[in-house]
Amino acid sequence: MCGIVGYIGSKQAYQIVVKGLKRLEYRGYDSAGIALYDGNNLNITKTKGKVADLEAAVFKDDNTHGSIGIGHTRWATHGVPNDVNSHPHYSNSGDLAIIHNGIIENYEALKQELKNRGYVFKSDTDTEVLVNLIEDVQLNEKVSLSKAVQIALNQAIGAYAIAVFDVKNPSELVVARLGSPLAIGVGEGEYFVASDASPFIEYTANAVYLEDGEMATINLSKDIEILKIKDGAIVDPYIQELKINLEQIEKGGFDHFMLKEIYEQPNAINDTFRGRLLPEENIIRMEGVDSNIKKFMAAKRILIIACGTSWHAGLVAEYIFEEFARVPVEVDYASEFRYRNPIINKDDIVIAISQSGETADTMAAIKMAKDKGAFVFGVCNVVGSSISRETHAGAYTHAGPEIGVASTKAFTTQITVLALIALRLAKEKGSIDREQYHYHLYEMEQIPKKVQEALGENDNIKKVAEIYKDAEDFLYLGRGFNFPVALEGALKLKEISYIHAEGYPAAEMKHGPIALIDEKMPTVVIATKKGHYEKVLSNIQEVKSRKGKIIAIINKGDTVVRELADHVIEVPETREAFTPLLTTIPLQLLSYHIAVMLNKNVDQPRNLAKSVTVE
Ligand code: GLU
Repeated sequence: MCGIVGYIGSKQAYQIVVKGLKRLEYRGYDSAGIALYDGNNLNITKTKGKVADLEAAVFKDDNTHGSIGIGHTRWATHGVPNDVNSHPHYSNSGDLAIIHNGIIENYEALKQELKNRGYVFKSDTDTEVLVNLIEDVQLNEKVSLSKAVQIALNQAIGAYAIAVFDVKNPSELVVARLGSPLAIGVGEGEYFVASDASPFIEYTANAVYLEDGEMATINLSKDIEILKIKDGAIVDPYIQELKINLEQIEKGGFDHFMLKEIYEQPNAINDTFRGRLLPEENIIRMEGVDSNIKKFMAAKRILIIACGTSWHAGLVAEYIFEEFARVPVEVDYASEFRYRNPIINKDDIVIAISQSGETADTMAAIKMAKDKGAFVFGVCNVVGSSISRETHAGAYTHAGPEIGVASTKAFTTQITVLALIALRLAKEKGSIDREQYHYHLYEMEQIPKKVQEALGENDNIKKVAEIYKDAEDFLYLGRGFNFPVALEGALKLKEISYIHAEGYPAAEMKHGPIALIDEKMPTVVIATKKGHYEKVLSNIQEVKSRKGKIIAIINKGDTVVRELADHVIEVPETREAFTPLLTTIPLQLLSYHIAVMLNKNVDQPRNLAKSVTVE
């Protein structure tokens, strides 16, 4: 995820683009860059850091001139954040400049072909491959820029929102999108392009939102032309008048970043899958695992270290790894691990999980594990973060920036990555039946759609939140794969509503927490059909016999729990190992609505910080 901005018209583009980038920094902020064509030269300034750092760099070189310009604020997916990997990227001839938001999955194969034809690459990005592919088509087939973009994009697999221009024709800007957003602002003799309308809302309220699979040629001497990328079919531009303010745009129309991020989960999980989950070919491809497969195969034990929500993802992974890959797993709080005298063997694999990749305790635990000779694998969201650099190998979650302090999409994408690793390993070891492996891959592919379905319960969840928002305590129960989900549900509620909540494995209730139950106490029970369904039914009965209130997360169409529970929230069915990816969704929404109803600061809860970089 990143922010892109472009301008073409008669004004100086610099101010417009830079101001726009600042508004898009919520989409990514590890590096930034701008390309301006001043009539003679294409000036590209790029820098690691924020847009403010870019401004300083641009002024130093006095590269502020030109009435066509494109800019980018990056959230790296391919290549660490540094000056070279920052966008814009330009083609080998130096004529084409591009900005890109998304991931080109088959970039390695394309890069190899281009290298064979003599192209050289400066960066590690997928984006630089795309701009050279466009140039290659343009030169070989002797076609216009827009035709070359169309042909090149038909060879690219993945997701993108791009803007590209050719200095040989500086009155034209070509844009396209598939899976990443792109809006075009239509002014008087000028056009703006951006990831959302916030960069241009002050100049024009007229916007065209490209649909997935569409591209547009914006030429100052013609009307805007929209085509379908696939077959070149012409689309009539639909210009709409925007009636929203800046803040609403940045939060994508949601009231809070947390809610936006909850709703982003179908896309975020898809991004985690991108280029890795290939059910048709019956494979999972993960660079960090594939190149270390011998180490994974030889591992006698996996130690997972993490903090907070990431620790919960680790607990889910324990169940998944043991189920599929048949390797013993231990999950530890990084803060405990580092101050114990843990036994770490040379053939242990340590997996460290952290959204930010900067968590101080996890970082210290990694160093200790490395000192003891373990192979350490990182699962982080932030590309180029300290943990991703400190570990021997790793896999990014690709969830995009998470701004709400309470983690949501980072959690589900962490589970997704860990499930991919477990299945990849299981196949290699032969610890999963071939047919089962195949089924699981196909079912995994359905998860984003099912998460979307789970989000459809939002109104129902809001009603439940209204009833229980004044409760002083909550109990969350789950078993098996869903025990960690109960912990995570309780944590979410505590974090943002400040209501006391406890998560327990459902069977443990009898060993203590049952004493808390009375007619005022709500118990949230994850009671999906797989696993220990019958046992959970008994646990529900036990709560009901003590007059407790039950909010049950059930599978669609389950009438048995519906009869027993006071309230039910439905999620679709899936393979047991993947249920946490669905059952988590209603718990996130429940805590969100309760916190909003209690007027709490949802995105920045008291006493908390987004990444815990101190002990
Ligand atoms: N894949 C591109 C990169 O890593 C774009 C990432 C983004 O969307 O920010 O540079």
